[in-house]
Amino acid sequence: MDQASIDALRAAPVAAFGHWINGASVPASDGQAMEVQSPIDGTVLTTVARGTRADMDAAIAAARATFEDGRWASQAPAARKKVLMRWADLIDAHALELAVLGVRDNGTEISMALKAEPGSAANTIRYYAEALDKVYGEVAPTAGDVLGLIHKEPVGVVGAIIPWNFPLMIGAWKLGPALAMGNSVVVKPAETASLSLLRMVELAYEAGLPPGVLNAVTGEGAIVGEAMGLSIDVDVLVFTGSGTTGRRLLDYAARSNMKRVYLELGGKSPNIVFADTPDLDNAAKVTAAGIFRNAGQVCVAGSRLLVEASIHDDFVSAVARHAEAMRVGDPLSLDTAIGAVNSAPQLQQNLDFVATARAEGGQVVTGGKQVRKETGGFYMAPTIVTGVAPGATLAQREVFGPVLAVTPFDAEGEAVRLANGTIYGLAGAVWTSNLSRAHRMVRAVRTGVMHVNTYGGADGTVPLGGVGQSGNGSDKSLHALEKYINLKTAWIKL
Ligand code: ADP
Repeated sequence: MDQASIDALRAAPVAAFGHWINGASVPASDGQAMEVQSPIDGTVLTTVARGTRADMDAAIAAARATFEDGRWASQAPAARKKVLMRWADLIDAHALELAVLGVRDNGTEISMALKAEPGSAANTIRYYAEALDKVYGEVAPTAGDVLGLIHKEPVGVVGAIIPWNFPLMIGAWKLGPALAMGNSVVVKPAETASLSLLRMVELAYEAGLPPGVLNAVTGEGAIVGEAMGLSIDVDVLVFTGSGTTGRRLLDYAARSNMKRVYLELGGKSPNIVFADTPDLDNAAKVTAAGIFRNAGQVCVAGSRLLVEASIHDDFVSAVARHAEAMRVGDPLSLDTAIGAVNSAPQLQQNLDFVATARAEGGQVVTGGKQVRKETGGFYMAPTIVTGVAPGATLAQREVFGPVLAVTPFDAEGEAVRLANGTIYGLAGAVWTSNLSRAHRMVRAVRTGVMHVNTYGGADGTVPLGGVGQSGNGSDKSLHALEKYINLKTAWIKL
């Protein structure tokens, strides 16, 4: 992965993308397309189909028909495994192309995209391919005159709505287990990051996935996403994105067929640093990376630093030093640490949060402003705000940008109260050299994942899911399979 190969790919024109319905790339039913603006420099890269409700219905009908005819669900597990393994290999073989295409679309720094996007997607698909013939049904411990069997069946049609921050990684978290269990799928990429996901779907067909088993419809969430949510032919809806949209999806389900809805929503994850942290400078460096990589556009980002008062000033200075050393730059440069903010509205929203934080008494220690304006793209300096009161907007609301809110604490109990004092519960960390305290904190903080003496990096072997208003259900690990199966009991009188 050298700079020259990246530069060769960055210059290539990008063809217009259509939907993937029934194994074919098709335009919107009314011929409409939407422009894809690159956050790197604000230029228009290409267009994607602006989907209509009819397009979504056609994709769902294709998925339903393929599920009913069993072209995928009824294949022997070994055959399905082979296709998914081939898909993972093709993703690896096209990793650089996919990563560069994705970065041109969403602005993530390429060093991060290369780690977190195609490679991780391929690993996820491989993981579920390997798992699919190890999922057994059960024999229930009944009385001797009956036989109780518990079958694990695919649910049917899965709808997946994907965000723009990590379209391949998060896409694979849904598509991998859904397809492995024999379901047919319709995926709706985000408006501002659909290209690499569409290409990944194309590779699935190249790998031998039967036509119609995986479909992709692009367009506006409020149109095609809503049509998916309201469809009576979608059995399970899986989503990563904002709480506002998550709430809508629950409403769509209630108004249609009461489909199961699994939500992975936002967070305001507490990164809790005690004075007895073994290597404070390393903690400061990881803290900076844990909020500022991908310009803070990471659902598990450690966006609240809770730091023991006795080390507050020194630790904040160290985090600021590391933040300032992270180069905000061209997302396609291998030495860029922080790429672009995904869109102009997102950047404005980040800046508005900083203005509100100031108005509510916070002090901006570093950053707080737009940078690289001359590029035409959307960039923001990593920003640290101290003196953030527990009830302040910046302590309570997810920014989804490179903004760290700092609040001091004096005692462990206070740290727990602060950590648990939001509507969210997605991720968090505790830094300490006291083993008992580490375990106490893991238990006491209400989140889906707690890191100890690190931040981020949990791999595919462990689940990721939120509590509270961070969502329900888990991505990753074997636990994710539960979302994509139905349990059926056979009660047999002997
Ligand atoms: P963000 O604020 O991070 O962009 P969103 O929740 O708006 O998060 O977007 C995540 C995904 O949800 C995107 O694919 C988007 O198109 C989709 N989406 C947005 N609005 C709706 C909606 N009303 N119904 C269904 N999906 C939607």
